[in-house]
Amino acid sequence: MVLGELGKKLSTALSKMNSSQVLDNKVFNEMIGEIVTALLQADVNVQLVKKVRDDIKKKVNLEKIPSGVNRRKLIHQVVFDELVALVNPRKKAPKIPEQKSKTGEIKYKPYVIMFVGLQGSGKTTTCAKLAHHYKNKKKKVCLVCADTFRAGAYEQLKQNALKAGVPFYGSYTEQNPVKAAREGVKHFKKQKMEVIIVDTSGRHKQEEGLFEEMQEISEAVNPKNVIFVMDGTIGQSAFDQAKAFQERVTVGSVILTKLDAKGTKGGGAISAVAATGSPIIFYGTGEHLYDLEPFNAKSFISRLLGHGDFGGLFNKIKDAGFEDQAEFYQKMMEKEEVTLRDMYEQWSMIIKMGPIDKVMEMFPGFSKDLLPTGKGEEAQLRIKRFMCMMNSMTNKELDHPRVFHHEPSRFTRIAKGSGHSVKEVKEMFEEYKRFAKVLKSMIKRMKKGGGKGFNM
Ligand code: GDP
Repeated sequence: MVLGELGKKLSTALSKMNSSQVLDNKVFNEMIGEIVTALLQADVNVQLVKKVRDDIKKKVNLEKIPSGVNRRKLIHQVVFDELVALVNPRKKAPKIPEQKSKTGEIKYKPYVIMFVGLQGSGKTTTCAKLAHHYKNKKKKVCLVCADTFRAGAYEQLKQNALKAGVPFYGSYTEQNPVKAAREGVKHFKKQKMEVIIVDTSGRHKQEEGLFEEMQEISEAVNPKNVIFVMDGTIGQSAFDQAKAFQERVTVGSVILTKLDAKGTKGGGAISAVAATGSPIIFYGTGEHLYDLEPFNAKSFISRLLGHGDFGGLFNKIKDAGFEDQAEFYQKMMEKEEVTLRDMYEQWSMIIKMGPIDKVMEMFPGFSKDLLPTGKGEEAQLRIKRFMCMMNSMTNKELDHPRVFHHEPSRFTRIAKGSGHSVKEVKEMFEEYKRFAKVLKSMIKRMKKGGGKGFNM
């Protein structure tokens, strides 16, 4: 998981406090000390760490907590809120306007996004990831290449656009990036594209000429959102870079990249961005199109502390177009029994969401156990095989798994019907039993958490 080391240290500090026999000032201060050390080691800015420490101390006065209030829970909540505040944007990111008015009338409102950032930060890759994201959200989205500076930029973006399956505009021969950007945006506005993403060439804060050019492009295409792409591995120097860009164009939001990279401390970049006040909207976790996660401060900290990211899961399911199934966990919270049909529903949802390893990162701790054993593709294949067996089941079997205990001959019928052995069908049934157990305990935990479910 992203920033795994920091997450581990933070949750260890909290659980140490949770399991201490008495909760006095000594235990409390030790916990704060461990949190401070963990944040500093993750490269979080010293001033911000001090603020976190002071704010926690201000909000928790052990002597004054009324009896009857769960002190450990209260401290946990204060720490959680402070960590959220640490990465929370102070302003909201711009939003894509609806193309339909309230009366249902179509009003074309193009939304131009301009990407800026240092060379090598992951701009071009992220442009394509974002285009892919919006395409999945059924937006008419396209890419414009205004990077006339770097050889190969045109071809790279073109290939990425092809992979993402979105229209592309660029020119091999055009030398003037301002002209390329203007022409590209004009071209796509004519085609009534809703989201027009403009990739620009990378620049460094010392390169004055390139900064002027960036301003000219911005004036030419009049973006509704300027996205600053920042390499998450660069640590605290991110702050100066982010500020330099912000002084020249109005940065609407930030995307952090490479948070998956080995040795990435991440804390530096994240706190630097937070300090500039620009909201982080997504973060990159790999080189592929789907390696882009929406950034939500609460979900991010939840994941960091190993609580699982119900908010993120909910969004992922929605983004993939599974609104109906997005209610799955909510529904399970109201059900007594976990059935084979529930397992089928959960698996088909997971399979459609993308590569299993990626999906699994969304649910630290528990979800791995909701799948058959085996890694990545192996688990995926096992799911498909098991689902094929389940296709040969009757409604009664899917909804009342107890019938198998009374009539084991049902295993033989399903084996024949699906072209598998009885042993394999029984293996699937064992998986179901395990699945039901894990899901039940997970639901129990969700209920314990105040029944907040996805909105934690
Ligand atoms: P640009 O110069 O800013 O346009 O950067 P590119 O898009 O060409 O990316 C530079 C390198 O970073 C490429 O090798 C990308 O594959 C890689 N990259 C981009 N985003 C990520 C990410 O989130 N994780 C990892 N591991 N690599 C990334």
